[in-house]
Amino acid sequence: MGIRTAQQYFDSLNDGRVVYCLGERVNDVVHHPILSICADWMAVDYALQQDPRYQDLLTEKNDRGERASFVFRPQRNRADLLRLREIVKLWARICFGKPTGAKFVAKDGLNAVTVVTPRVDRKCGTHYAQNVETYRQYMQDNDLSFALAMTDVKGDRGLRPSKQVQHQDFYVRIVEERRDGIVVRGAKAHISQAPLANELLVVPCRGMREDDKAYAVSFAVPANAKGITMISAEPEVKEPGNYFDYPISSSVYINDAMVIFDDVFIPNERVFLKGEWQFAGDIAYMFGNFHRLSAETYKAAELELLTGAAALMAEYNGIEKFTHVQEKLTWLTMLTEATEIMGRAACEHCVTEPDSDLVYPNPMIANIAKLYFSDNWHQATKYVQDIAGGIVATLPSAKDYMNPETRDLMDKYFGGKAGVPTENRLRLVRLIKDMSSAYEDVITLHAEGSPAAQKLAIHALADFDRYKAAAKRAARIHDGTDHPIYSPLPEFPMRLSK
Ligand SMILES: Cc1cc2nc3c(=O)[nH]c(=O)nc-3n(C[C@H](O)[C@H](O)[C@H](O)COP(=O)(O)OP(=O)(O)OC[C@H]3O[C@@H](n4cnc5c(N)ncnc54)[C@H](O)[C@@H]3O)c2cc1C
Repeated sequence: MGIRTAQQYFDSLNDGRVVYCLGERVNDVVHHPILSICADWMAVDYALQQDPRYQDLLTEKNDRGERASFVFRPQRNRADLLRLREIVKLWARICFGKPTGAKFVAKDGLNAVTVVTPRVDRKCGTHYAQNVETYRQYMQDNDLSFALAMTDVKGDRGLRPSKQVQHQDFYVRIVEERRDGIVVRGAKAHISQAPLANELLVVPCRGMREDDKAYAVSFAVPANAKGITMISAEPEVKEPGNYFDYPISSSVYINDAMVIFDDVFIPNERVFLKGEWQFAGDIAYMFGNFHRLSAETYKAAELELLTGAAALMAEYNGIEKFTHVQEKLTWLTMLTEATEIMGRAACEHCVTEPDSDLVYPNPMIANIAKLYFSDNWHQATKYVQDIAGGIVATLPSAKDYMNPETRDLMDKYFGGKAGVPTENRLRLVRLIKDMSSAYEDVITLHAEGSPAAQKLAIHALADFDRYKAAAKRAARIHDGTDHPIYSPLPEFPMRLSK
């Protein structure tokens, strides 16, 4: 088929899927007043692929000479990862910091199962890598959109999947094995854009033990498969189409839905893990490596936007020369640029998977970058709110500004620095309000993994032997241990002045 148009994508969603939003069953997800925001945002992927300005970045010719989306390709070297990054950055810059979602999250899941399934096959004699390859080809040939369903609803977070008390379905599990496939049950939470995706790629969200075997499952399934119900996340936007009051949230609705699997049949050829519990954690971890790179990439674009809003607001308020404001702008610049640099570094220092021609982003750098920007996001919005003032909380709505009876009053009294139209100031205030919402705080903290997940990874990857060798050398501790970097170094101080 080659690459699809936006219209072909929209038409493909009329497939009987079971979606709820704001208390009602939605029969037409494309023309629903709120879900259409998500559909339009996702369709940007397809519009850009058709655009000659971006086609060479976003697509490649396949063996048949047809254009295919680059993001479906396995990542084989540094250049591939850097190109993937440029793609995410383009998507994010176009969509106000939120990369268009047709393939954004699930491409990282596809990369994860691509890297890990050969490990499973080598150890267990399975044939999952071939299933992944066939699936990849299918996705590429039909240019489908997909969502990545990793996060289980989990129940009691202190208990492993098989040890849950209230019921056994807090994590998606295999409830029946048939000759031609498996039947799965359970639910995944916060699955971005699932109600508007063609396919769902399902992976485990944590490491498992042997008694969690039934939960060590990965597969792909069409979003309209029998037994799947999707309940949309409550939309942030209160008035679709009101770009003055909701400049971002009326343009992007990610729809992080709950996806329920009520005895869904998955044919064998779409199964990528079936009980090999030792590899559940590998898939979750590998998804994290790829998805944290995506996170720092789009977040750098979002931080450009936030820092720009702060700098503009400082000018509009006439405070850009005050030291405390310049300090905040400097700090915001550091956060923005460091996030960008670390994302690039995770690609430059990528890791080659042994016995393969595949690479993945440097896990240490990717995890540090995600933790760094998410840990500092609340501080960043605090600074921007500080620069903007209380008006972020109290500004009347666009309806009052558009009302001729109050417009002149608002123009006169909401003015800032001379020469800046009041309307520009008010629009910027709304942008800052949208960007510093509770949704933005939570997505930054938890999406792409909670802080504890990054801390676990960083601690596990830390080269404490190197750090300890440095400390022992400086403290003159000679305990008989050698270190390849520190032991061969010359004595110091050298007393060269004697
Ligand atoms: C906007 C948004 C979009 C998202 N999109 C997707 C998506 O497309 N696909 C997807 O699969 N997921 C998605 N996620 C899910 C995201 O990965 C999770 O929110 C994140 O991993 C945290 O899981 P949780 O929300 O279940 O929080 P919880 O796990 O409930 O976390 C609450 C607290 O409990 C702690 N905790 C939980 N379990 C343990 C444990 N075993 N040991 C120690 N501490 C623990 C956490 O560290 C945290 O402090 C999205 C999330 C958000 C907010």
